[in-house]
Amino acid sequence: MTIRRALLLVLACSISLTAQNRPGPATTTLAPGILLFTTPGYGDVGLDGNAIAILSRDGVLVFDTNGTPGASAAVLGEIRKLTSQPVRWIVNSHWHWDHWYGTDTYQQAFPDVRIVSHEKNRQMMMGPAIDFNRPFLEEQLPAYLQRMETRAVDKPDLKPLLDADRAFFDQKKSVRLVLPNVTFSDRLAIELGERHIEVLNYGRGVTPGDTFVYLPNEKILLLGDLIVNPITFALSGYPTEWLRVLERIDALDVTMIVTGHGAPLYDKTLMHATMDVFRMLLREGKAAKDKGLTPDQAKDAIVPGLHDLMVTITGDDPGRNAAFRQQLVDWYLHRVYEELEGPLTDAIAKIPAS
Ligand SMILES: [Zn+2]
Repeated sequence: MTIRRALLLVLACSISLTAQNRPGPATTTLAPGILLFTTPGYGDVGLDGNAIAILSRDGVLVFDTNGTPGASAAVLGEIRKLTSQPVRWIVNSHWHWDHWYGTDTYQQAFPDVRIVSHEKNRQMMMGPAIDFNRPFLEEQLPAYLQRMETRAVDKPDLKPLLDADRAFFDQKKSVRLVLPNVTFSDRLAIELGERHIEVLNYGRGVTPGDTFVYLPNEKILLLGDLIVNPITFALSGYPTEWLRVLERIDALDVTMIVTGHGAPLYDKTLMHATMDVFRMLLREGKAAKDKGLTPDQAKDAIVPGLHDLMVTITGDDPGRNAAFRQQLVDWYLHRVYEELEGPLTDAIAKIPAS
């Protein structure tokens, strides 16, 4: 495995990007007063999560707070252009860094802000999430930067990318982590001005505490990484429970789904295709394990049968096909095997070697 590949894997939610600079967030109006902010990647070493603002006459709720204080400050700057109301509520979907490391920005600006997440997310954020990220921050990213610096001596065109990577490292070192100060177990209803906002957990999915938001009046779902557009990251997920969670979510009346990354979805095609991949991997993974195949052998045997679903998800783009095979199929299948060997704990699983 190359260093670059290792870096990207450890980031869990990352893909290769070549952004030369870091422009501000792009704003998409999902419904009147409900905005999606999409931020650019961090050089070629990280991909940021989506942030969503729900405005009301009595304040703002922000769903997910980006991966760095710089990114969340840029999002807050956009929110301030739209309303003079304070941010009263934050909801963090899960423990992956790109969805909550920017919370400090909001707490600094609004000291009374209530920061909501599932009780298990808070536990993960207090320790395991930090431990998971430590090798990347303390070893892999500095080593990668050093190599980039060496290469940039002869290739000046690498300099902007190197600057972006360095800026990311500086941000990550300076981040002040802020934990949720309101936790819930299965449901929390928030009445915010004219908005009725349901904060929900249907059980373990991609993480032990997946927290999502349902707006029944606007028929909008904010899912975090329970589904990612286009390719769901299945690292350390809970295969059987995750499918059950999505089946319950599928029963909700919605016209729009906003995933943890990527553009909003206006129908359930991607979610259904991803659920069908899960179903096939659960079924075929068990059969392969019964036959004595390793997870890697099982993947080779199962992937051809997933072709049509893969094309639905990836559009048959070669890079996306490769990500589909690794981040969805390979990572999910490893967890299917682990689940068959005994009940899964809340501990973060290692990234499978491949
Ligand atoms: Zn993510």
